[in-house]
Amino acid sequence: MDSLDRILAEIAAEMRGMEHRGKVADYIRPLAQVPVEKFGIAVVTAKGETHLAGDAEEAFSIQSISKVFALTLALGAVGDQLWKRVGREPSGSAFNSIVQLENEHGIPRNPFINAGAIVVTDVLLGHHQPREAIGQMLRFVRELAGDDSIGIDEAVARAEQDTGFRNKALANYMRAFGNIEGEVDLVLGTYFHYCALAMSCRQLALAGRYLMDGGLSNGHRLITARRARRINAVMMSCGHYDNSGDFAYRIGLPGKSGVGGGILAVAPGIASIAVWSPGLNPSGNSQLGQIALERLVQRTGWSVFEPRFGAP
Ligand code: GLU
Repeated sequence: MDSLDRILAEIAAEMRGMEHRGKVADYIRPLAQVPVEKFGIAVVTAKGETHLAGDAEEAFSIQSISKVFALTLALGAVGDQLWKRVGREPSGSAFNSIVQLENEHGIPRNPFINAGAIVVTDVLLGHHQPREAIGQMLRFVRELAGDDSIGIDEAVARAEQDTGFRNKALANYMRAFGNIEGEVDLVLGTYFHYCALAMSCRQLALAGRYLMDGGLSNGHRLITARRARRINAVMMSCGHYDNSGDFAYRIGLPGKSGVGGGILAVAPGIASIAVWSPGLNPSGNSQLGQIALERLVQRTGWSVFEPRFGAP
């Protein structure tokens, strides 16, 4: 057995035995039904090999991991102009926090907190109707993963529409500052559909290849190497809300979490990694997902802070 397969199998077995698995998100109704016992991990290497363990083929709600794909599309649409409407500093606040917005005049700290992603969605809607923007996102992730079976879970999108009161407050508040240009309901409807993308660890790790490979996805140039580097930098500093410093400290890789319990992590030049376990820590990040990534990095030496990182 390849040693990477062995490492992943060991980690999956260790995770099965874990007692403290965190708490499944329940503020989006369908997510509350997902069994906390689930655990999957997928690694796609720079050589193009795919390694899987656990429930790596089961689709889950990627939620805020979609913020990485939305950021990529928005930078493609408007380039660095985007940074006039959203910052790129860690927030140190919860994913759905509203407190900073008043002091900072409706400019969210970064594109990976909810407020920031809602602005990014508004930017994408500046160029499309909601239906087209959702279709564009779906085509994008299908192309990235090379898999047309990826879809959107309408029940999850609808549930968020019913209960997303904080997101509605964030969007309306930013609209008052002039930083949301579209109709709030249309912007949020689009944002909720992005969050409701359903993907497996395998599909997600395949979709993350362009960030591992300097902007190349399966050998095709998708974005410049500089843009890929910069998206990875924002993932490293802002990808885990008020837990981002701890993620960098423990794992040392650019990553983005979602309240569905998924994490996409990137070892540039080496591997694209997706992990899923639906129980969350108090910051809304996968409890076991983080532990699994920590163990993977310990056993492979893949942290970007490793002196010989990426060396042949
Ligand atoms: N759709 C979720 C929300 O807006 C995303 C949060 C997350 O995944 O962190 O509340």
